Amino acid sequence: MRVSALADLHTHTFRCGHAVGTEEEYVRQAVRLGLKAVAITDHIPFYWLPPEAHDPTLAMAPEELPAYVEAVLQLKGRYRGRVEVLLGIEADYVEGHEHTLAQILQTYPFDVVLGSVHWLAGFWVDAPTSLPEYQKGPERVQQIWARYWQTLEKAIRSGLFDVMAHLDLPKKFGFLPAEPLTELEDAVLQALLETGVAVELSSAGRRKPVGEDYPSPRWLARLATAGVPVVLSSDAHAPHEVGFAFALLQQQLQQLGVREVLTFRQRQPLALSLAEG
Ligand SMILES: [Zn+2]
Ligand SMILES: [Zn+2]
Repeated sequence: MRVSALADLHTHTFRCGHAVGTEEEYVRQAVRLGLKAVAITDHIPFYWLPPEAHDPTLAMAPEELPAYVEAVLQLKGRYRGRVEVLLGIEADYVEGHEHTLAQILQTYPFDVVLGSVHWLAGFWVDAPTSLPEYQKGPERVQQIWARYWQTLEKAIRSGLFDVMAHLDLPKKFGFLPAEPLTELEDAVLQALLETGVAVELSSAGRRKPVGEDYPSPRWLARLATAGVPVVLSSDAHAPHEVGFAFALLQQQLQQLGVREVLTFRQRQPLALSLAEG
């Protein structure tokens, strides 16, 4: 199955300190695969923490952001006609810091803004250093999931994001809630439907201990049935991961009756037909 009509809307670069490759190497890989578009969406600097809390292995420093934007904008021009390069960012949602984030997002001409909940009041949802918290037992796992869904709902409703990244992130290490959190999950779905915010179908989970896409097949079926728009993403942290498993992602969506995925340009959604792929 060809993936040539598709767009990868989630990639990182060396700037975040835990990915490898320059922006251009990601773009070149997208050209090699024949993708229609690729968004460079590196992690936003820690805007919600004091400068001394900056961790160069998690995100670029605030002063690096202009150079990142400039690099991506240059590639946009240089690769025109070969692949559409989108200026994106993966932006953390942090409750209480919405205004600061809004200001950063307004400063640059982003094509697409991915929203992520990695941080829950001092707790990193997906950092390996958080593993001991998950290992404390089912009660703690339940708490983390509940807190996560509540925060995610607020993120969706914040109006700051075009696409929600890795929807069911707390599963990364394989810890699932013991009791279904139906009400909280329903509230997340409702928020998506009311706001029109899209969700990424990301192959990154295939490279993690959990070994499945974000979101899970169960969630994906729910989103598809409800008509929530989907984008494809690899969450590549190395250039060769661009477009990772896209043929399989495409197949899954088609089996669920989904006919199109979205790409973005200047934060406006555009449909890409899966049939052409
Ligand atoms: Zn990352
Ligand atoms: Zn992320």
